[in-house]
Amino acid sequence: MKVAIYTLGCKVNQYETQAMERELLRRGHELADFEGPADAYIVNTCTVTAVSDKKCRNLIRRARKMAPDGVVAVCGCYAQTAPESVAALGVDLVAGSAGRMDFLNRLEEQLRARSGQVVAVDDAMKRRAFERLPAGGLAERTRAMLKVEDGCVNFCAYCIIPYARGPVRSLPLNEAAEQVKALAEQGYREVVLTGIEISSWGHDLKNGQSLINLMEAVCAAGPDLRVRLGSLEPRTITEDFCRRAAALPNLCPHFHLSLQSGCDATLKRMNRKYDTARYLESVELLRAHFENPGLTTDLITGFPGETEEEFAQTLAFIRKCAFSAMHVFPYSRRPGTPAASMPDQVPKEVREDRARRAIAAAAEMERAWLSAQAGSVLPVLFEEEKGGLWRGHAPNYAEVRAPGEDLHNRLRQVLIEGAEDGALTGRIVP
Ligand code: SF4
Repeated sequence: MKVAIYTLGCKVNQYETQAMERELLRRGHELADFEGPADAYIVNTCTVTAVSDKKCRNLIRRARKMAPDGVVAVCGCYAQTAPESVAALGVDLVAGSAGRMDFLNRLEEQLRARSGQVVAVDDAMKRRAFERLPAGGLAERTRAMLKVEDGCVNFCAYCIIPYARGPVRSLPLNEAAEQVKALAEQGYREVVLTGIEISSWGHDLKNGQSLINLMEAVCAAGPDLRVRLGSLEPRTITEDFCRRAAALPNLCPHFHLSLQSGCDATLKRMNRKYDTARYLESVELLRAHFENPGLTTDLITGFPGETEEEFAQTLAFIRKCAFSAMHVFPYSRRPGTPAASMPDQVPKEVREDRARRAIAAAAEMERAWLSAQAGSVLPVLFEEEKGGLWRGHAPNYAEVRAPGEDLHNRLRQVLIEGAEDGALTGRIVP
């Protein structure tokens, strides 16, 4: 049967879609384009903001229209938190953010003989086991993702994810190491450790292991692979963490430390568990232990109650951190979260104006970070050719463009000559 999948949301959702695609192929199905004819359409949903919910509903309606007699199946975080709303769109199967193999079994049952609408959504808060799924690749055989963790119990005031994903569950260390070995054997050159909140990796295993133990095991299991980390909670970064991480030769010096606000009062309202002093300590520790690391972050502008003065503190703080790249989002009200009913909601134009100002500051910082790398020689893993130049990434996640031939999945030393359009430019050296 032909099955088409549309994925919304984060890397974890992409990872889970890739795992489903692999499983569908293993079961003898064909993958189809979502825009074309198919026997079944799957929408893997996201619920991070109210806008994501709306996008999901639109896509589900579109799938239903394209396949009035086919099977429309919906899974993921939005389906997990609002199964009734999804069911009301007339789909054949609703499942949540876990149990992917069961979901595919039910999909096959529906393909064989339609048995009326099936809603099979568990209670995410009762989940205790990590769901094993095969690891997969992003840029063909270059970078693979390995999901090592699911769930979050931080309950940030603006976020619905703990309700959509449940408590923290971790992939045991030996299994992660085995998967990394297998990825190296399949020809991948880089692995990204992903999860909903990978800083919490190991909490549920209750054996004293934490993320740094996992990093050490994974780096040792795939010595020829570059290992990159997904988003970290700032308090993960300690002197011990940095000392041990800096001793791992294949760990990429690229750290994404989620900031969200550079103002202590706002961080408190957000129910983030650190203040700017602790955050800055992490930034300084990383700069002390790694040479020219990539430090990236996320920022929300116009969180409820954020005054102009508070935003000015954020702007000053991000400049102090000198990030290499930032993702900036105007606050988006997510029904069902504490922040949605907080007083002093900030008007949309103000949220968006502040986002523009933060993005401008981020672009300046990125230019400075890139320009400072001119003259250095960086090991670049090349991914694809575009406009006559090969593109790849340095360990610190700077994009690098250089002329060359047949560089896909090859690691080359590049002498950096300049920077343009958010990327470094250079030439390959022996
Ligand atoms: S850490 Fe906060 S923002 Fe991230 S998933 Fe957990 S609750 Fe949401």
